[in-house]
Amino acid sequence: MKKLFGSVLALLIVTTAVSQNTLGYWQQKVDYKMTIDMDVETYQYKGTQNLVYTNNSPDTLDRVFYHLYFNAFQPGSEMDVRSRTIADPDDRVKDRISKLSPSEIGYIKLISLTQDGMALTYEVVGTVLEVQLNKPIQPGQSTTFEMVWDAQVPLQIRRSGRNSSEGVALSMTQWYPKMAEYDFEGWHADPYIAREFHGVWGDFDVKITIDADYTIGGTGYLQNPAEIGHGYQLPGQKTMKPKNGKYTWHFVAPNVHDFTWAADDEYIHDVYKGPNGVDLHFFYKNNPEIKENWKNLQPKTAELLAFFNEHIGPYPYKQYSVIQGGDGGMEYAMCTLITGERKFESLVGVTAHELAHSWFQFLLATNEAKHEWMDEGFTSYISDEAMNVVMDQKNPNPQAGSYRGYGFLATSGKEQPQSTHADRYHSNRAYGISAYSKGAVFLAQLGYVIGEAHLKETLKRYYSEWKFKHPTPNDFIRVAEKVSGFELDWYLTDWTQTTNTIDYAISSVSEENGKTTVQLERIGLMPMPIDLYVRYEDGSEQVFHIPLQMARAEKDNPFPQINWTVLPDWAWAYPTYQFEITNGKKVQIMVIDATQRMADINPKNNSFGME
Ligand SMILES: [Zn+2]
Repeated sequence: MKKLFGSVLALLIVTTAVSQNTLGYWQQKVDYKMTIDMDVETYQYKGTQNLVYTNNSPDTLDRVFYHLYFNAFQPGSEMDVRSRTIADPDDRVKDRISKLSPSEIGYIKLISLTQDGMALTYEVVGTVLEVQLNKPIQPGQSTTFEMVWDAQVPLQIRRSGRNSSEGVALSMTQWYPKMAEYDFEGWHADPYIAREFHGVWGDFDVKITIDADYTIGGTGYLQNPAEIGHGYQLPGQKTMKPKNGKYTWHFVAPNVHDFTWAADDEYIHDVYKGPNGVDLHFFYKNNPEIKENWKNLQPKTAELLAFFNEHIGPYPYKQYSVIQGGDGGMEYAMCTLITGERKFESLVGVTAHELAHSWFQFLLATNEAKHEWMDEGFTSYISDEAMNVVMDQKNPNPQAGSYRGYGFLATSGKEQPQSTHADRYHSNRAYGISAYSKGAVFLAQLGYVIGEAHLKETLKRYYSEWKFKHPTPNDFIRVAEKVSGFELDWYLTDWTQTTNTIDYAISSVSEENGKTTVQLERIGLMPMPIDLYVRYEDGSEQVFHIPLQMARAEKDNPFPQINWTVLPDWAWAYPTYQFEITNGKKVQIMVIDATQRMADINPKNNSFGME
């Protein structure tokens, strides 16, 4: 009995600890019911939306905002003008929007909008709908919005649209009027200029009526597989005849913050059993040149899912779909749209990256417009680790490419802080390296600072505490602090909010009377702890660890086979640090961070005794 009491108590303590970490946290909720009728000849569709919005904030809301993303695909839109004025436009966009004819543009045109049955006044401003409410929404209250709209699917230019370069008919991403997120920072009604999203958690119920020849893949569980068929039915199950040549597909998606679908009349649809009973769906064109790769992709996707389950946390839905569509690779709720005419390694690589986004940004739903490095960077980190294992790449450092990218940017004179809004980088390239490469290095380098075991535990605890929420950079670093016992505010601040760089040097090594004096120098502004590897002339090895004083902790020896000597702390303001080696051995070589996980921008001054 005592033992039982003990375990119940332990359970209570764990539960309390978890809830305390998110104490005071709130998020809005939105439940969508939508019906869509698609005309596959004109690519126009009619939509109705019943939206129940619950205000869990402490604030009274007198207006709301919706995203109307399709309006970006019109000549003169912000997306169009930005693409024509940025130094390095995306090849897929360039000036293509400016050349769209009226039958090729995208739009969402409101027919009506009501709140609890009363008509509302609103204004469409580019890709944002501004709505004044008749009745302010009080804290804790729900209200119902009803909308009717007409829309046209644009020619595929960026992510969404009709007739992709690989011939996929409909890539329906960012396609419906979507309630903007309101959080502790207020409204996030970002115009759709180039990239990144932030959505409200909720339940979706979507009915799509479309020509019976088309197969749909996307977010949500199909509710009427026996009626529709198209690979969703049980083996041998007879399907029903379409009405007027159309089927109505009924999807339900619980607790997601987006809804995406794609449709084509030539899709092959395979279902592969993944780990934990997750059904992996694959939708790809009936093209003999890609079929074999898409078959071989299926077991690899299952292995990738198992890797992420193990290293981050269990995928919580029962379905994930890999869909040929879009114009590269983009992550969505319970699915991804990727281009499919790729070499096998690239096909697995893009699937690894987009599937990893199911954790980093989807379940751990950071505001990716503001914290793009937590989205793309964390995803790049974990998918590169996964590819190394699943594709047996045998790369000693799967993050080496990200370090090279970051080093290039940091020394280019063109780096902007990672806290820059995703749309506000001076070039697409600067955004890409900052978000993907520097973001991946953030994690890999954190492993250097707190130790790999602590990094691994941090990722798991971050998932268990923050899944289905909107974590911020501070929420992540607080988890790392609690797991490791380190103070890490300096790491978060310098790395993500400044362009300060790391540059430590071995400035002198001198020997006198069997005693070696070593002097190190901090040249860069960013502080770091130092692992100094030494090999003596007799072949023996030693690592001197110099803790960073402001971290108020020291890591465990990462090299159990090597003598690990912890020296006194280095306080950041002191530009130099000196210590003596008194074991009588002669130093042959000496290297700062032999593992090269500290992103020192000038590795040339990091060693002694090496050619
Ligand atoms: Zn990505």
